[in-house]
Amino acid sequence: MTVVIPTKTLANGVKMPYLGLGVYKMTNREEAIQAMRKALEIGYRAIDTAALYYNEEEVGEAIRTSGVRREDIFVTTKVWNSDQGYDETLRAFETSLKKLGLDYVDLYLTHWPVEDKFVDTYRAIERLYEEKMIRVPGVSNHHRHHLEKIFAKANVKPMVNQVELHPYLSQEELRAFCKENEIAVTAWSPLGRGGILQDDAIMKIAGEVGKSAAQVILRWHYQHDIISIPKSVTPSRIEENAQVFDFELSAEQMGQLDQLNKNQRFGQNPDNFKFDF
Ligand code: NAD
Repeated sequence: MTVVIPTKTLANGVKMPYLGLGVYKMTNREEAIQAMRKALEIGYRAIDTAALYYNEEEVGEAIRTSGVRREDIFVTTKVWNSDQGYDETLRAFETSLKKLGLDYVDLYLTHWPVEDKFVDTYRAIERLYEEKMIRVPGVSNHHRHHLEKIFAKANVKPMVNQVELHPYLSQEELRAFCKENEIAVTAWSPLGRGGILQDDAIMKIAGEVGKSAAQVILRWHYQHDIISIPKSVTPSRIEENAQVFDFELSAEQMGQLDQLNKNQRFGQNPDNFKFDF
């Protein structure tokens, strides 16, 4: 089976797949490479890693041995909190690039907005964009107030903001703000780390459309114009998560899913994140 994954056109015209493979906690070398190669084989064209995930080398290896052309794969990585600041970010980028074994990265993100540093971090990302070392500049875990501080100093606005987002944390206000500013939203933990798959309302809709709970949730993201990056190392789930472009949720089903929001986070809130690890 191969799937054609649709792309979202970002503010600068670059096309980013609506679905990518998240690779957080894939630290077993062989398992990680197998999972990424499987994903690329069935049609995934985006991989979401970070310096923190300690698997950038495996990402590079999976790409090189996949048989898919480098330019057809959208690679995201992120600068970790302890490497933030202007010069530090430029150095961290060099390290990531070396580990990946690539000569450019598609999307480079500030991982979390470290207070007093995230604006300088973004300015370094902007410089990497100007120097064509990255195709898209972006951020992660930025609230509106973080983005506004960046807008005041930057020449180019971030084009992607990657945040925790799923039916229990639908982030409607942030999504509207990002839309006004041509910032594409990517959902991390789109499945709520697996913690929302047993939800009664989601399971009921899954029964109605003959799909799994995970597929219903990922379809909800897509119909809301949100990019998602579910993580799995299990081949059948990697495949299942990509099969979300061949059915549609009705307006009523979308409305029912929208009502599940309870501002519940499975990860940390950027406003009181503990940056000391
Ligand atoms: P997720 O919502 O993708 O859930 C992953 C869990 O769900 C895993 O335990 C997996 O086994 C299970 N799962 C996946 N597909 C399934 C299926 N079809 N059926 C049943 N269970 C399934 O959560 P995540 O891993 O936290 O997030 C995904 C990605 O987001 C990460 O790998 C990473 O790339 C990114 N991320 C980014 C940040 C950030 O700060 N920017 C933070 C966390 C995660």
